[in-house]
Amino acid sequence: MSANHVLIVGSVALDSVQTPSGRAVRALGGAAVYSSVAASFFAPVRMVGVVGEDVPAEHVDFLKSRNIDVMGLQIVPGGRTFHWAGAYEGDMNQADTLATELNVFQDFRPELPEAYLSSDYVFLANIDPELQLTVLDQVPAAKLKAVDTMNFWITSKYDALREVISRVDVVFINDAELRQFTGIVNLTKAAAAVHDLGPSYVIVKKGEHGAVMYCNQEMCFAAASYPLAEVADPTGAGDSFAGGFMGYLAGTGQINPTNLRRAVVYGSTLASYNVQEFSLNRFKSLTKGEIASRYDEFKRIVLID
Ligand code: AMP
Repeated sequence: MSANHVLIVGSVALDSVQTPSGRAVRALGGAAVYSSVAASFFAPVRMVGVVGEDVPAEHVDFLKSRNIDVMGLQIVPGGRTFHWAGAYEGDMNQADTLATELNVFQDFRPELPEAYLSSDYVFLANIDPELQLTVLDQVPAAKLKAVDTMNFWITSKYDALREVISRVDVVFINDAELRQFTGIVNLTKAAAAVHDLGPSYVIVKKGEHGAVMYCNQEMCFAAASYPLAEVADPTGAGDSFAGGFMGYLAGTGQINPTNLRRAVVYGSTLASYNVQEFSLNRFKSLTKGEIASRYDEFKRIVLID
């Protein structure tokens, strides 16, 4: 049987990030990058995105070295890569966006290479929801479609985002964004309002407090986040979570309640490793053995009887 691929569409970025631990300037980032590398630990990935000619070749080479097909990565001659600048302070649960330069994203139209159209697991990482819609149109028969977003798009493209959400199975969203999107303060009611739009699974990320999964109107799993004494750079935690979740499910090929819970814990595991270093640096050295041992520690934390 051939492996299930995860198709991932989203931002590929050069990020400038400042945290109490230090700073990175124009380092590799972007929602599609974090989620693709996280997913690639479990399943082959097909990535769709856009960069400018200014992107260092070593970044593309790194992705290629990771079970990630970059046939869908457009390189715009003379173009400049999307640049995001952000800073974290205090509890580091929320980034302050200092700059968002869309650059090559302004004219980007995601066109899936023919070979990508059969992908069964589709993750629409953070990107303009109008672009997410054009991707959904190209993969009508996918088995599991998931979306992530952020406050920027909830404010600027609410209607398009609502349509995206009505057409997917899984929504990844953090608690503040869920309240912002629904206008409902109570998270259980807010998750139910998202279910009413169509998705079967709503996964609410709560930063250092873990994640909660709602399955068809009721809470079906709560995961702690891994207790780290030092967080260097939280950028990409949500994307790593989603990539780990989707990659694990694609790797097993079975969407059932046990695998969904495991996927949440693998997502938390990847997110916890990612934040220990800036940019993608921790993923560069991460091994499958380390993933397995942190997963086991998570099991120990949630064991009751
Ligand atoms: P996360 O920390 O998981 O929420 O995602 C951080 C990543 O999102 C960074 O690497 C940024 O490059 C990317 N990002 C920030 N703003 C946007 C935006 N408006 N659209 C798409 N990606 C973005």
